[in-house]
Amino acid sequence: MEVIIKDRNTVGGANFSSYEALREDFTWDKARSLLDGLPGGGLNIAHEAVDRHVADGLADKVAIRWIAKDESRHDFTFADLKARTNRFANVLASLGIGKGERVYALLGRVPELYIAALGTLKAGAVFCPMFSQFGPEPVRARMEIGEARVLVTSAALFKRKVAGWWRELPGLAHVLIIDGDGEPPQGTSELRKLMAEASPHFEVARTVPEDMALLHFTSGTTGRPKGAVHVHEAVVAHHVTGRIALDLHPDDIFWCTADPGWVTGTSYGIISPLTNGVTMIVDEAEFDAERWYGILEAERVNVWYTAPTAIRMLMKVGAGPAKRRDLSCLRFMASVGEPLNPEAVVWGNETFGKPFHDNWWQTETGGIMIANYAAMDVKPGSMGKPLPGITAGIVERTETGVREVTTPMTIGHLALRPGWPSMMRAYLHEEERYRKCFVDGWYLSGDLAMRDADGYYWFVGRDDDVIKSSGHLIGPFEVESALMEHPAVAEAAVIGIPDETAGEVVKAFVALKHGYQPGEELELDLLGHARRRLGPAVAPKQIAFRTNLPKTRSGKIMRRLLKARELGLPEGDISTLESDEK
Ligand code: ATP
Ligand code: MG
Repeated sequence: MEVIIKDRNTVGGANFSSYEALREDFTWDKARSLLDGLPGGGLNIAHEAVDRHVADGLADKVAIRWIAKDESRHDFTFADLKARTNRFANVLASLGIGKGERVYALLGRVPELYIAALGTLKAGAVFCPMFSQFGPEPVRARMEIGEARVLVTSAALFKRKVAGWWRELPGLAHVLIIDGDGEPPQGTSELRKLMAEASPHFEVARTVPEDMALLHFTSGTTGRPKGAVHVHEAVVAHHVTGRIALDLHPDDIFWCTADPGWVTGTSYGIISPLTNGVTMIVDEAEFDAERWYGILEAERVNVWYTAPTAIRMLMKVGAGPAKRRDLSCLRFMASVGEPLNPEAVVWGNETFGKPFHDNWWQTETGGIMIANYAAMDVKPGSMGKPLPGITAGIVERTETGVREVTTPMTIGHLALRPGWPSMMRAYLHEEERYRKCFVDGWYLSGDLAMRDADGYYWFVGRDDDVIKSSGHLIGPFEVESALMEHPAVAEAAVIGIPDETAGEVVKAFVALKHGYQPGEELELDLLGHARRRLGPAVAPKQIAFRTNLPKTRSGKIMRRLLKARELGLPEGDISTLESDEK
């Protein structure tokens, strides 16, 4: 199997028949050898993503096809990217920004975001993307925590979110504005002008694998977001997991729908597709079912990486719009970010003729850890199996530490053996919080899961979201998935509420599909359906209807907020909350 690792084009799932054999033969050292490294030593993500392809004869290949809000298309070849990111790196150098200093972006999905990300890495500085729809407070908090030296943003975002306070950040030396007519706001600089003056040649900073490269804030689903620190070595994992878990092949057209403000949109929306030399699609606009199907069809997308919330929104619209399109180019579809209900996998199969391949990972892990690969049978509702190079386990707490549980289908903490390249190296300025993640040689993910006899992992719920009712541990995911099987249900979230006899009982919040009205009759029907599916001990006792559920901007249901509101407790950190209905 060694040959598989060495040949850059044959690691992708379609070309290896035995997952087990690959897993046995895999080492991170072999994975490392798939990358070039810097000429003369060192490792730099941007070199692997851009420059080496130019050297390898891919200069004229389209690296990024950018689709603007108005649906116009703009192509950037690897050579274009190389020159532009060099210019950006030169701009930073001319401003005196060097190794380890933090460059933040507050931008929509515009080309400058991608250029700034890669140019920053070339310069040896640290890139920190922020979601453009954050309000001023979350933006400021993140920039303070990470000691931002540079901010790249647009004139409109600057005016709305930054202008009021940026002078109070003593470390923030430069604000680079990407657009606007006339003079940039006082104290800021016009990026276009600086880029035009900068040279398109740059010698990539000689970073080493352990140099800090990226700062990513977690989604804030369970509380205050944490700043996860990632290093250049992460690129080894980004590269190889893109091949193995997303089945990326060099001729693919790949579309990752996540925003780079979240880790998925950077690891798999920038780095992995580029290191793998595919053409990646970037859509500037927000979700719209017709537009998305239009892009899949017109761009002949082969590999599509999206999230359960988006899939559920597509399901809400129905299969009709998909069936009217020619989506025959789609070869592989994957999902991440939240548990993917079996219903959604089955729907994908019926609608597209292939299933969504669920995979699991976190901001902290930097890359995909557990996945349903192309070469595996998909078990709907399962997250799949650990990737080659990854050791996962289910552990339970003991008095002194943790112990692995090997009995199949036992609920426990989902844990990983540290040591893969894209693992976070710290929570910035939160040593204690970081240290607590590691017990007895395991990294504890904060999620609960089970492993079946075939080695597939099944998500149960987040540690904090699990419900204890009459001695049963109830995972919200199982209950939500059962509710989703009912034809009326578009989305569901369940929480535990205190109960005198049972300790806790399950309460469900449900959003309905078009054409269904909330009411007592439907409530009884849903309660009956859940009881038949789950049994009376696990089924919800109460159902509340909502037009939508509270979610983070990365699309994760905030169960803790539903619970806090239900119990009249403080809402906690809601800096990443998207619009919702109380
Ligand atoms: P915070 O850590 O700030 O509370 P968060 O955990 O939501 O936020 P992310 O790192 O963006 O921040 O999300 C990782 C989490 O998302 C995982 O720990 C898990 O709970 C959930 N998740 C991701 N993928 C899956 C999946 N395929 N199935 C189930 N849950 C998933
Ligand atoms: Mg988390």
